[in-house]
Amino acid sequence: MSADTSSTTSGGGRLVVVSNRLPFILKRLDHRQWNVEPGSGGLVNALLPVLRNRGGIWVGWPGTVDEDISELETTLAELTRDAGYSLGPVMLTTDERDKFYNGFSNEIIWPLFHDLQTNCNFDPAFWQVYQQVNLKFARVLQKCSEPDDFIWVHDYHLMEVARELRRLGVCSRLGFFLHIPFPSLDIFLKLPWRFEVLRSLLEFDLLGFQTLHDRRNFVQCVRTLLKGIWVQGKGQVLTMRFEVPTVAADQSVAVKDREIRIGVFPIGIDYKTYAERAASDEVQQRAQYFYDNLRGRQLILGVDRLDYTKGIPNRLAAFRHALRRYPDMHHKVTLIQLVVPSRTDILEYHNLRLEIEHLVSEINGEFTESGWVPIHYIFRNHELPELLAYYRAADIALVTPLKDGMNLVAKEYCAAKVKKDGVLILSEFAGAAGQLQKGALLVNPHDIEGVADRIHEAFTMGPDERRRRMKRLRRAIRDSDIFWWVDSYLGAAIEKELSDFPILEEYIPHTERVLVD
Ligand code: UDP
Repeated sequence: MSADTSSTTSGGGRLVVVSNRLPFILKRLDHRQWNVEPGSGGLVNALLPVLRNRGGIWVGWPGTVDEDISELETTLAELTRDAGYSLGPVMLTTDERDKFYNGFSNEIIWPLFHDLQTNCNFDPAFWQVYQQVNLKFARVLQKCSEPDDFIWVHDYHLMEVARELRRLGVCSRLGFFLHIPFPSLDIFLKLPWRFEVLRSLLEFDLLGFQTLHDRRNFVQCVRTLLKGIWVQGKGQVLTMRFEVPTVAADQSVAVKDREIRIGVFPIGIDYKTYAERAASDEVQQRAQYFYDNLRGRQLILGVDRLDYTKGIPNRLAAFRHALRRYPDMHHKVTLIQLVVPSRTDILEYHNLRLEIEHLVSEINGEFTESGWVPIHYIFRNHELPELLAYYRAADIALVTPLKDGMNLVAKEYCAAKVKKDGVLILSEFAGAAGQLQKGALLVNPHDIEGVADRIHEAFTMGPDERRRRMKRLRRAIRDSDIFWWVDSYLGAAIEKELSDFPILEEYIPHTERVLVD
């Protein structure tokens, strides 16, 4: 592990991480006992060492509803007895889970912030419960934090936490990172609670976004909806000053200046671990099994959670178009589409699954011949070694979300291509496009013909160009890994000089890019 946590320890107090879910998966064994397993994923792996080093707390929902907190607190305290940090559970009822998590978070903010306002269900009851749950998080934080702690809140489930904390009189420094995109003004204006959400976000001292585009959208919304805004600086971290009216006890209104930081921190992966595990004998053997079964065909891989933002139907349509337009690909390619079940209790997700399955069977019906089925579709979750074997074996990764905060699959694929022999086809609308634009083949996922052409281009690309591109991609992903991300965010939080942060590269659609080595 390469986290330079030293720079993050100089900020004084402890780190308090707040996310919707705790970094542990809890399952009840019987009426008194719990099975607890550590969560996986880059964020958990990167933040736990900082918490251990600096001391701190991780506050979140344990993922179970209608449970007795005292029982759970004992289990969690035992679990972290010698860990150097503790866990603060926030308990939810079934109604809260349904309206806060499924409702406001995943039926309003998730589709809206991914530009899909027609998928939104603006039920006012969702907003009430969203505030109520954010207040619950704030109360737990009020109890367990101290004034010199830095409280780092993650993601769209918890945008109101800052406002609730300030109302409760908590004066610690507060940071927020939005893992999903921030929409443009026209889309954000659709949110019935737009003022409340913006005002709460402005209570944080540091706001982090995935891309320059997201930050620009945010600044435009603030400028339009609130008065007296100045933005200063250029590069990864800026300062924003604005006026805040305060009402005194005698009802007189005074206007105070307030300054916050707004930064761009594209999230990375634990590159070294992915590359090392992908090179292991276990993964190599599993990948060999795929090679043997493909009998000389190129493997095109799609890996997505079941979600309408991932553009799976568009991708299938583009693959069908490629097979119609380029008969030289027949018998020579296999598309393996892995879909991870997700949010299955929301109707849109259920319908999406049916749509995907219908398309797969239509395309296979059109092209399958003796000895060749063009699409293999797998609907389940895969453990990391299996996933890495798919990455290693895939000649082409097809990552074509309609919109995505970052897209970690694109980065994981490149990290796992230890022989540098793969091609990444990447959506212009994935947050990762800014960092990966010079090695990937970028596509507009709505352009079915364009994506089909890029699939064929990847299929016919020679080994030298594949290698040159993949080297570039791997370098970019290695240099901005998850530990860099934590360090640069916490560096911005402890007031590192703005000039110490780099100028980031932005992807501007429709600009022809030349591969420069
Ligand atoms: N993933 C997984 N099991 C699978 C397929 C994918 O755990 O069978 C993981 C994958 O390794 C990646 C994450 O799911 O870390 C997907 O992250 P991404 O940013 O691409 O999309 P998200 O699902 O967060 O929107």
